[in-house]
Amino acid sequence: MSNEIKTQVVVLGAGPGGYSAAFRAADLGLDVVLVESRETLGGVCLNVGCIPSKALLHVAKVIDDAAEMASHGVTFGKPEIDLDKIRSWKESVIGQLTGGLGGMSKARKVKTVTGYGKFTSDKSIEVEGADGKTTITFDNAIIAAGSSVIDLPFIPNDDPRVIDSTGALELKDVPEEMLVLGGGIIGLEMGTVYNALGSNVSVVEFADQLVPAADKDIVQIYTKYNKKKFNMMLSTKVVAVDAKDDGLYVTFEGKNAPEGQVRYDKILVAVGRKPNGHLVAADKAGVNVDERGFINVSKELRTNVPHIFAIGDVVGQPMLAHKAVHEAHVAAEVISGKKHEFDPRCIPSIAYTDPEMAWVGVTEREAKEQGLNIEVANFPWAASGRAIASARTEGKTKMIFEKETGRVLGGAIVGINAGEMLGEICLAVEMGADAEDVGLTIHAHPTLNESIGLAAEIFEGSITDLP
Ligand code: FAD
Repeated sequence: MSNEIKTQVVVLGAGPGGYSAAFRAADLGLDVVLVESRETLGGVCLNVGCIPSKALLHVAKVIDDAAEMASHGVTFGKPEIDLDKIRSWKESVIGQLTGGLGGMSKARKVKTVTGYGKFTSDKSIEVEGADGKTTITFDNAIIAAGSSVIDLPFIPNDDPRVIDSTGALELKDVPEEMLVLGGGIIGLEMGTVYNALGSNVSVVEFADQLVPAADKDIVQIYTKYNKKKFNMMLSTKVVAVDAKDDGLYVTFEGKNAPEGQVRYDKILVAVGRKPNGHLVAADKAGVNVDERGFINVSKELRTNVPHIFAIGDVVGQPMLAHKAVHEAHVAAEVISGKKHEFDPRCIPSIAYTDPEMAWVGVTEREAKEQGLNIEVANFPWAASGRAIASARTEGKTKMIFEKETGRVLGGAIVGINAGEMLGEICLAVEMGADAEDVGLTIHAHPTLNESIGLAAEIFEGSITDLP
């Protein structure tokens, strides 16, 4: 069967970028078709990314918190893990959100076409679906095709004991010995989950720190806190994996490489994601895609073909859902005739680990590289009543100010709830607030957020007696 549809806007891919663009365009009165190869909307983020990982991290947090209560006089028994129930709870979380998107799409009269779409010209896309082919001719297109996991060539990728983030989220079993290859955010989050469920987790990272994008002092606090939980091999790489019947035998090289081969039951490969720019036949539309698969865009999110836009993971780093959503709104508004540009002062990054690590704006390292004249104020959580009462004093709040003006240029937090706390620093950076604005803001006591106001007061010189 062959269908033909004509529309003002077609959106290719229904992740956070795609569905946000489709909804905003429809809200602005445009006729929209949303093409998605998965059965459900939501893309990587809702189906196999942000949301299921946070559902499992919630389980991990409760297990870890319950164990920690023993030192405060409340002992719970050894947790009984029912993987089927955890899995179905995670699926119900996904279902609730993806189902919600389906409803929102219908309410806006966005037409959804299920199948794999490819450009056939700069005015048409062909979608190959279970019901046959659909040809969509459009006035404007938004490419929101996202990204895919990167496989490593020297790993037996077809061995079911080698998994990626999607495989890790499936939670088929809890391996006794698990190697996480790559110490970035996704690897550490999944390592946190499996460690709480009972795996011995080792992490190997080529760089000399975990989460290389964050400042070293922030990551060091995370690393010190987790020293006993994870075996961490920094400045080390995997050079070979020998798949045998009784396990995966790994050879390492580098500063902290163990001697000989080490046996693992499972390896999680979490070395990053590659953009899907080469998978949509962009060349048929004349859209330039670089050799890595990224599509270059202007501040209006236009590709080199002015009526074709691109957003989200496929246009560049950081590959984060909230960046995709904001780009989506810009693209939809520009198509509707509004004047808009994507030019954020900051895009927050959060590792939902334990403790969490969160940062926004310039990092201290970036400020130094850029030659900015900055002053850094650190508030250690050992001086926070709330942190002490929560028995989590390892954290700290770090604010980066422009020395001359006191303007907030960035900030980072490591500690429990760091991700939720970061919003205040995001707002300060985006608004161009200075230390006085932040310091004069009355923060409720006792909260962890107080540490942000106190860091501003440190910069202003009104606090000098910290531990
Ligand atoms: P995607 O979400 O990748 O969606 C693209 C969609 O397009 C997919 O559904 C794909 O099936 C579809 N598609 C692609 N090509 C075609 C085609 N030709 N035809 C039809 N459909 C097509 N980000 C955060 O901000 N916070 C987090 O906590 C977080 N956690 C993560 C955890 C994990 C395990 C992973 C893997 C990622 C995580 N991310 C997180 C990253 C986040 O998921 C992505 O940045 C985000 O999903 C990007 O959105 P997008 O719209 O660009 O693309």
